[in-house]
Amino acid sequence: MKNLVPYSSARDDYKGSEGVFLDANENPYGSITPEKWNRYPDPYQRALKARIAEIKNVDAAQIFLGNGSDEPIDLLFRAFCEPGVDNVIINPPTYGMYKVSADINGVEAREVLMTKDFDLNTEGILNAVDERTKIIFICSPNNPSGNDVDLGKIEQVIKGFGGLVVVDEAYIDFTNRASFADRLAEFPNLIVLQTFSKAWGLAALRLGMAFCSEEILSILNKIKAPYNLSGLTQETVLKALDNIASKDEMVSDILKNRTDLKGQLESLDIIEEVYPTDANFFLVRIKDAKLVYKRLIEQQVILRDRSSVVLCDDGIRITVGTTAENHALIEALKRL
Ligand SMILES: *Cc1c(COP(=O)(O)O)cnc(C)c1O
Repeated sequence: MKNLVPYSSARDDYKGSEGVFLDANENPYGSITPEKWNRYPDPYQRALKARIAEIKNVDAAQIFLGNGSDEPIDLLFRAFCEPGVDNVIINPPTYGMYKVSADINGVEAREVLMTKDFDLNTEGILNAVDERTKIIFICSPNNPSGNDVDLGKIEQVIKGFGGLVVVDEAYIDFTNRASFADRLAEFPNLIVLQTFSKAWGLAALRLGMAFCSEEILSILNKIKAPYNLSGLTQETVLKALDNIASKDEMVSDILKNRTDLKGQLESLDIIEEVYPTDANFFLVRIKDAKLVYKRLIEQQVILRDRSSVVLCDDGIRITVGTTAENHALIEALKRL
């Protein structure tokens, strides 16, 4: 990997923006759409990163943008893990993509279960580390449990491990703690993941962010697909970032609905436990979870059955919806 010569695109060879561009075999006339998409997009998404840097208070030189968070997750395996030799550590129950990406890349994912209240087993994690452990994945707020894990424990793992630590903050907008992105200078082995798929309401555009040291970033940039983010995504998100107020308003509505929904769920006999959440969803324990899941689908209310997931017996994950959607859920549960 150190000796890899990355693909050099036309936009790498000549970086200016004025002139007669006959270098990339593009169509000179335009596109078959009303808008013009005939020119290749900026491979390093500079305009978008400059704006995200302001919003996130992170140096633009420490931002990687990918096709969803899934892209940086996959690239980390490809960049830093030797298939069949190296391993990573994950903390089930957690986001499924870390394990899937490990499997695809032929890398062992060592599982250190969370505690019963869904916190990190720091001792277990650090004991599971050996000389071939390259990455530890921590998800906070954690999916599917919803809670922020103890921040001191995250810090303990980052400080106690010589390899890379990924802190996945996909749900950071719904919690009131500070982001670990504020602490990149302190921890050169830290990679913070965030996404536009949840709070920003842009899941279909596929835009994920990784914040990390410039050393890590330079390696990710070397192995990513040259034009990994479409021009449509870059331009649409750049425009959307003029409208942060609308995101804030949606987040505050979701937080209000979260409080209301919690009370409503807790008042139902069928719900055995509503776990604490710092995200836009709840994990609940419910009698006969699989049956309830199916009966709700018959009423066209679709939840996420997590009852087969470790430590999530009888668990169902419920996304906080609009007031009307949450009402539909509660009415459907009452009918059961
Ligand atoms: C939803 C989610 C993501 C976001 O994935 P994208 O590929 O950016 O849409 C990342 N991590 C976790 C834990 C999630 O739940």
